[in-house]
Amino acid sequence: MPPDSARPDASTDTRINLVGLSREQLAQTFLELGQKPFRAKQVWHWIYHRGATDFAAMTELSKDLRATLEKHCTVWRPTIAREQTSTDGTRKWLMAFDDGQKAETVFIPDDDRGAVCISSQVGCTLTCRFCHTGTQRLVRNLTPAEIIGQFMVARDSYGEWPTPTDERRLLSNIVLMGMGEPLYNFDNVATAMRIVMADDGIALGKRRITLSTSGVVPEIHRCGAELGVNLAISLHAPDDDTRSLIMPINKKYPLKELMQACRDYPGASNARRITFEYVMLKGINDTAAHARALIKLVKDIPCKFNLIPFNPWPGTPYECSDPATVEAFGQILWDAGFSAPVRTPRGRDILAACGQLKTDSERLSAKEQRLKDAAEAEAAKAAWAEKEAAI
Ligand code: SAH
Ligand code: SF4
Repeated sequence: MPPDSARPDASTDTRINLVGLSREQLAQTFLELGQKPFRAKQVWHWIYHRGATDFAAMTELSKDLRATLEKHCTVWRPTIAREQTSTDGTRKWLMAFDDGQKAETVFIPDDDRGAVCISSQVGCTLTCRFCHTGTQRLVRNLTPAEIIGQFMVARDSYGEWPTPTDERRLLSNIVLMGMGEPLYNFDNVATAMRIVMADDGIALGKRRITLSTSGVVPEIHRCGAELGVNLAISLHAPDDDTRSLIMPINKKYPLKELMQACRDYPGASNARRITFEYVMLKGINDTAAHARALIKLVKDIPCKFNLIPFNPWPGTPYECSDPATVEAFGQILWDAGFSAPVRTPRGRDILAACGQLKTDSERLSAKEQRLKDAAEAEAAKAAWAEKEAAI
């Protein structure tokens, strides 16, 4: 098989992929195959607890059943088109799907645990100016099989099957912070996360899953009510002018609405705080006045901050704030009683850090994008200078 392609028989294989089916869909498929419901339960266990990649491995099923399943179904996962491991241990996979589209997945190991950063779309409809994925047009939403498949491939890579029965596991968390906006593909993300959370399979609790959104206000409530996972908001600016310039979605859902959605987020409390992600962009959003405005903005929301040093990518007009500026900014937040750690960039050498993921679909030429970004960065600076003068 060529290294960067999808599985070779993908275009002709019409069998049903059982991976990514909800429990109800799996039961229905078994019914249609004339099989008893408990067989569906057994196969679920083989796929999500044992990590079986083919029916031959499912030894407790009869030979006949295995043959029937082999004929009508698959337990397919994305193919690895490329794998890179950073000097800091971060691993990135370029995953290829059946139609040849690709997305990236990253594993960020810690001492005795680690987070898998999963993509929800190929590309992104949004165009946040500091984000590499944002330079890529949206190709399509990922299916539940492709979303959960990324996590399963990561588990394969570290051999973490069967699912450990105690709390200790290397791939211990999921962050929906890869390519794409998960709340623009909520149904598929939700199906995949329900499978991940099911006790008799991968069994990852909702507190170990964090969904990051750029602020798709109408879907935020659903995320809390239907999944109950941790919420992270890509905030990145304390005022509408600056935020709209670096995140055009802010024009559609401005800060007032976004903050209200955070206040209303089901389950948000001091014990379960919302994370506000804040990328530090030199000269754009990183002054003491920005920090003070931020404190005002979030004062009645149970929250913490995560300061992200800007990760550069080829062609970006932005720079990361100086370390001293980041520290001073964080200190203002700490002094006001907020937790505000600086996220250590991981996997920068393999373009695996936040905002560096990208596959092939182009939106603008690099030159067009650069010119546009430079003009907008200037406008953002000017808008803020005006605002600052008025504070
Ligand atoms: N689409 C979702 C999740 C993916 S991005 C969202 O926007 O929240 C994950 C995080 O990385 C977001 O907070 C995003 O704003 C941030 N990010 C994007 N580009 C970045 C860059 N170049 N450097 C640092 N963080 C970046
Ligand atoms: Fe899309 Fe998130 Fe990147 Fe914005 S930051 S362009 S929403 S992936």
